[in-house]
Amino acid sequence: QAKRAGKSCYQVFQPEMYRNALIRFQAERDLRHAIERQEFRVYYQPLISLMTGQLTGFEALVRWHHPERGLVSPGEFIDIAEETGFIVPIGFWVLREACAQFQTWQDTIAIPSNLTLSVNLSVKQFAQPNLLDWIDSILKQTNIKSQQLKLEITESVILENTASVQGIFNQLHQRKILLAIDDFGTGYSSLSYLHRFPMDTLKIDRSFVDFMTQSPVNLGIVKTIINLAHQLGMSVVAEGIETEHQARTLQEMGCEEGQGFLFSKPLPVEAATELLQQFPVLLVSRD
Ligand code: C2E
Ligand code: MG
Ligand code: MG
Ligand code: MG
Repeated sequence: QAKRAGKSCYQVFQPEMYRNALIRFQAERDLRHAIERQEFRVYYQPLISLMTGQLTGFEALVRWHHPERGLVSPGEFIDIAEETGFIVPIGFWVLREACAQFQTWQDTIAIPSNLTLSVNLSVKQFAQPNLLDWIDSILKQTNIKSQQLKLEITESVILENTASVQGIFNQLHQRKILLAIDDFGTGYSSLSYLHRFPMDTLKIDRSFVDFMTQSPVNLGIVKTIINLAHQLGMSVVAEGIETEHQARTLQEMGCEEGQGFLFSKPLPVEAATELLQQFPVLLVSRD
């Protein structure tokens, strides 16, 4: 920070910096014990078909139930978890927990077999030599069909280590596990690498959905991304849909699925269960 401000500018140690350092230190200390103390929860955000308005699946999103701070969202701890490496056990816990929950739903509610469960995987998890063994054993234990599991990966995973990552992707693809590229457009999006990976789905980042309706140029960018994904045989999910207008615009451009507060916020397990019990659920009515 101080370096970036330039040579002629002295950075004074601000109380705010001290506060941030303290929060960070405490978060690191607390993260260490959060798994064993069972402080994490998985929330489930519905994904819906923009064509029919029907539920197509859920994305598992982690929450930290901190004893003093209450419910902490990933924005406040994922970066620290990444840097400290805690994201590895946390990430695998989320995968196992979400798959186990999905199995419970399959056993207790007759959910359709094409409903998918999306789980985020971090770069750090990709660096684990036993990643595939982990995934195999979780799938086996929870009896989930590989076609129902979708792993969400950001562009950074691809950029970090292309050769080994490619091998892992291919192995996941062989198992018929679905792969999605998450937050598309926020990284160093090189469109050229996309075709080299067996991706099933491209998720357009929320920021694009946000600015899409501001100008024809912005709209054109989103249209181009959707067309490109289709050219490469991928389906498209738009993140962060908050208005009916956005949903309609994306639907008209051929975007298959959407996710956002317009349809539903991420839900605790009880609420997601209730939603499933009403299946086939229409999260949006079209006239
Ligand atoms: P993401 O994977 O892109 O997940 C979508 C995020 O957008 C979620 O934030 C969700 O609550 C938020 N969102 C969905 N619809 C809307 C909307 O209409 N408006 C707005 N403003 N936001 C919307 P959340 O749950 O806070 O998660 C943030 C990020 O943390 C995730 O972004 C993901 O990158 C990361 N994350 C969450 N859970 C995990 C996990 O288990 N493992 C890893 N590695 N990362 C995770
Ligand atoms: Mg995601
Ligand atoms: Mg995303
Ligand atoms: Mg995002």
